[in-house]
Order: sequence, then C-alpha cells, then structure tokens
Amino acid sequence: MMRGAVLYGPRDVRFEKRDEPKIIKQTDAVIRISSACVCGSDLWPYRGIQPIEQPTPMGHEYCGIVEEVGRAVKSIKPGQFVIGSFFASDNTCPTCHIGYQSSCQHRELVGGAQAPFLRVPLADGTLVATHDVPSQDLIPSLLALSDVMGTGWFAADAANVKPGSTVAVVGDGAVGLLGVLSAKQMGVERIIAMSRHASRQKLAREFGATDIVTERGDEGVARIKELTKGIGADSVLECVGTQESMMQAINSTRPGGYIGYVGVPHGVSLDGEQLFFSHVHLHGGPAPVRRYLPDLIKLVFDGKMNPGKVFDLALPLDQVAEGYRAMDERRAIKTLLHANGTK
Ligand SMILES: [Zn+2]
Repeated sequence: MMRGAVLYGPRDVRFEKRDEPKIIKQTDAVIRISSACVCGSDLWPYRGIQPIEQPTPMGHEYCGIVEEVGRAVKSIKPGQFVIGSFFASDNTCPTCHIGYQSSCQHRELVGGAQAPFLRVPLADGTLVATHDVPSQDLIPSLLALSDVMGTGWFAADAANVKPGSTVAVVGDGAVGLLGVLSAKQMGVERIIAMSRHASRQKLAREFGATDIVTERGDEGVARIKELTKGIGADSVLECVGTQESMMQAINSTRPGGYIGYVGVPHGVSLDGEQLFFSHVHLHGGPAPVRRYLPDLIKLVFDGKMNPGKVFDLALPLDQVAEGYRAMDERRAIKTLLHANGTK
C-alpha cells in the first residue's frame, strides 16, 4: 500500500491509502516519483466546474526514477531518471511521427501522479530518460517540463513565435508565465503579459516580459493595439480557456496573426462570422509535450532556463490538500509536492 491524493468532490482532496501501481501491460513502467505538482487544470474538477463521478486519484505531472518495466519495454531501464507527459503515446504511429503525440492513435491518460509511485503506459514511447540522474536543484525545472512548461512552449510554437515577433500572453497562471519564458527562449524581444497581480507581473518580467497590461476586455484589447501600431500582436498565447480569455486573444491578434490556445476550454463558443472577419490563425489543443521533451531537457541541463521558478510553494506530498487550497485561493501560482521518503 501507499498513500496518494484522491479527489472526492468539490474542494475535498484526501491523502489516503491506495494500491501501489504495478505492471499491467508489458509495455508499462512503474516509476518512483521524485516530485509531482498541482496543475491549473486540476482546479477545474477541484472547484466542481468539471464534476467527477467517483473518487479520482489526482496528478498528471511527474518525474522520477524507473523502478520496474514490463518485458516488452526496450529502451527504458530501471534506475534511469525519466520525465513523461500527461498523455502516454507510442511515439511510433503516424500521428506521433508528425509530432502530435498527444493525439497518438494509442494514447492513454496518465493519472494518479500525486503519489510516491506511478504506472506509466507505453513506457518506451512516453518516457524520456536524462543522461544522468539530475542534482536536486534541477528537479523543479525538469518536473515543469512534464506539462506546464511543455504546454507554454506549445502555445508559443502554435502561435508561430519567432525572433522579431511581438507576442502577447493572455493568462498569468503558471502556463501563461512559462509561455512568456518560451517566447523569450525563442528569441522574442517584445513580450506583453496580461496580468493584474503584482507577484505574477514580477515573475513575468523575470521570464522576459517587456510590457504589462492590466486591463481586460475591450480596454485590454485597446491597450494591446496601442502597443502594436494599432493592429494587434503577431502572436497571442491563450492560456486560460474561458470565453473571455479566448475573445481577448482573438481581438488582440493582428490580421494574419496567430493564436496558440492551450487553456482547456470551458464553455467557449466562437461565432463563425466573427472568426471569419478576424483573419487570424488558430492552433491549439493538448500540448504534444513528448515532441519537445528532449530539447527542453537539454535547455534545463545546460542552464539556459529555469522554469522551476514557477513553483512558489513546495510541500511534502502528505500536505497535498493545502497545495490545492493555496492555488484555488491564488495564494500560490503553482505547488510542488516532494515525494521522496513519503510512504
Ligand atoms: Zn502514436
């Protein structure tokens, strides 16, 4: 037995006994979690906006040491430090080959990572091993690659971000902040972050934001246009998933510009005629994190970026409920959960 985070209903996360995961299919691996964390998307079911039908083990961001692999696993070995995505993928099907592993023909959701051990399906396709077991100080940044940084990176990539672009980021949650960092890494000089919170504005600036817009709605759009020769940004990263944030993104993009949208949509509907006349490119969805992992791991090991700064609260795994509360009440941007030594 082990103990892990289980959601029972709105604002009711318990740290309780669960069966230890084991190899079910011969393509699985079981990993010992080094650190896990709470995702912004975990807050949708936590707040009851996305109801759950039964007690649900939580967590889909993970890194750790391989404990055991099934007989069909060839490249991943016990003892390796690995990072994987929230969607397991075979990394061999036609969809994976074109770089959309999060739409893999054999994809499976990975869940229950807020626990000391985790089963990862399709281990060879899903997990990426680092050359060496990383030092403790690199773990937060490597953990961030599992979802939040990979998602911010996809938002920027999908929004066609390149050197010389003017980029606007809608949303100052962890994904939006790492979208800022991604744009900076991609060589962008002008990055406009939309945020009303002093601590998040500060981190946005540290990550590379050059301008902060505090207005929202029509005023927010007007402010972005003021900053972009009256036409809107070349690339806009939508990192929230509400009707308001999506319209903010569409209306802040210049004609011919690009939107990368990665906030999981909740109640978003778009008017066809309005979209037609907006003249924008829209590309989004669940981030194909697996595509980016090798490059992002190298950037972290080379000391080029430190996405782990997005964790402003670190707790032992058994205090996971407080980790959710702090994010729900916006006292924390993102909570890291130490798993080492937890039974
Ligand atoms: Zn595939």
